[in-house]
Amino acid sequence: MPTDNPRHPKFPIPGGSDLRARGWRQESLLRLLENVLSVGEDPDSLIVYAALGKAARNWASHDAIVNALKTMEEDETLIIQSGKPIGVVKTHAKAPLVIMANCNLVGQWARAEIFYELEKKGLICWGGLTAGAWQYIGSQGVIQGTYEIFMRIAERRFGGELAGRFILTAGLGGMGGAQPLAGRMAGAAILCIDVDAERARKRKEIGYLEEIAPNLDTALEMIDQAVREKRALSVGLVGNAAEIYPEIARRGVVPDIVTDQTSAHDLVYGYVPKGYSVERARELRTTNPEELMTASRSSIVEHVRAMLSFQQNGAEVFDNGNLIRTQAKAGGVKNAFDIPIFTEAYLRPLFAKAVGPFRWMAQSGDPDDIRKIDDKLLEMFPNNKIVTNWIRLAREHVPFEGLPARIAWLGHGERTQLAIAVNAMVENGELSGPITFSRDHLDAGAMAHPNIMTERMKDGSDAIADWPILDAMLLCSSMADLVVVHSGGGGYAGYMTSAGVTVVADGTGAATERLDHALTNDTALGVMRYADAGYEESFEEIAEKGIGHIALKH
Ligand code: NAD
Repeated sequence: MPTDNPRHPKFPIPGGSDLRARGWRQESLLRLLENVLSVGEDPDSLIVYAALGKAARNWASHDAIVNALKTMEEDETLIIQSGKPIGVVKTHAKAPLVIMANCNLVGQWARAEIFYELEKKGLICWGGLTAGAWQYIGSQGVIQGTYEIFMRIAERRFGGELAGRFILTAGLGGMGGAQPLAGRMAGAAILCIDVDAERARKRKEIGYLEEIAPNLDTALEMIDQAVREKRALSVGLVGNAAEIYPEIARRGVVPDIVTDQTSAHDLVYGYVPKGYSVERARELRTTNPEELMTASRSSIVEHVRAMLSFQQNGAEVFDNGNLIRTQAKAGGVKNAFDIPIFTEAYLRPLFAKAVGPFRWMAQSGDPDDIRKIDDKLLEMFPNNKIVTNWIRLAREHVPFEGLPARIAWLGHGERTQLAIAVNAMVENGELSGPITFSRDHLDAGAMAHPNIMTERMKDGSDAIADWPILDAMLLCSSMADLVVVHSGGGGYAGYMTSAGVTVVADGTGAATERLDHALTNDTALGVMRYADAGYEESFEEIAEKGIGHIALKH
């Protein structure tokens, strides 16, 4: 039975043991579609996160996808082009059930203004990576990544801990909403600015944010007191980051860590410029997008200049994957790229070993399934410090949104071992229903994004999109249940290509085979991609785990 969803009453959270489709694979993918809407930012408009990231092109497409998933057989494949179902064809039982191509534009045409034109004509939609591929699990999806970044900074600069440290950030949306909780889990006092009061309220309601301050003075006092007491605290403040960051700098306050996760990638549908209310910005999206674009860019210039001034005064400042430096540079901030990107600065050694944001969801809706998998994970990988520390913290702090889910940064071999063990738990009845496994698109073999994932690769291969395309083809050959090849839309048009994957553990022998091939080959490609770029950690992984890499020099 689906359960009530107080946040979006029209979009119940799927679950239970009733099958509406002709098999658990189809039913599970259907539940994932329902789930991304149940936890989405604006499900009435099919918007899940990342400003305009949608689960389907429009409601007719949504309904046709639901109908196809309910009626298709195990040996058929549903083809989806940018959120619109195109057809169901006969393949075979080991083929993917769903293949998707989202938002891919030909090189010279991959620009924001062309994307918006095509979008208006109803020909394309921005899949927001895990939104369009139904893999989004709420703000938890990026929470471990954000936490790990904070902890890497703690190790490098603050003696391994963030107690008594001040983090300043902005953006409390679908993904940015993870920041206050990640900061608190890391032990810091974190201040999060969002221009939209409703977003701040939402994060407080679901337990990701502790307090909302009435004004900047109070916010800084709350942070200051927590810093002095070395107490973890998350504070939200409603306001525009392009005003508040410079004001904090003007007062001579220098946070220890500064970042930003507003939707700066999208100057029209995402970022709200200084001096504009949320309502006014929304209105201008249709009446005068050009004005909004210009105003957003000049606000981002001020926003990033303040970030740079914090950096010059000793703060650790980084870009958290929202293209804010790119927009600022286009607006004339020549040194915007003095701010490093989080992937290159902190996480690359993990990606070189294909350790990345793996996740799973309980199709039954029963949170106990996730707890039992937590136990299994702790039992299987007692020496993996990152994972054991994370699972203990996540259990205590991370509330479930939608279908109960867990994220954990696992690498090559570990993901497969866990998934196969979980499939056995489904088979023997230890778990109350199937589990779906997927990952973020920001994964070793899965993403080319020269301003985020692949910035400053050792061999300069930043912009080569062969890797995610190879990954998607490999996943189709490796029996994954859902495979997507995805590129940027809106402000991300022309900036990225990625591959996504979902595999259903329904307790069958066929699922064991699918999980084994798909998850193993996905990370094998990731390790080989980084080996090809010359990363030492990847060669070690190849030797240790016997990955079939052909080592040729460029
Ligand atoms: P979202 O659209 O759900 O939320 C963005 C938030 O920013 C909104 O709450 C909005 O009110 C706020 N905002 C906009 N302009 C503002 C301003 N000037 N001052 C203060 N607040 C402002 O987007 P999201 O899903 O939270 O993603 C945020 C950004 O992070 C996007 O650019 C997204 O693509 C990127 N992202 C990065 C990663 C990563 O791996 N680091 C992962 C996912 C998303």
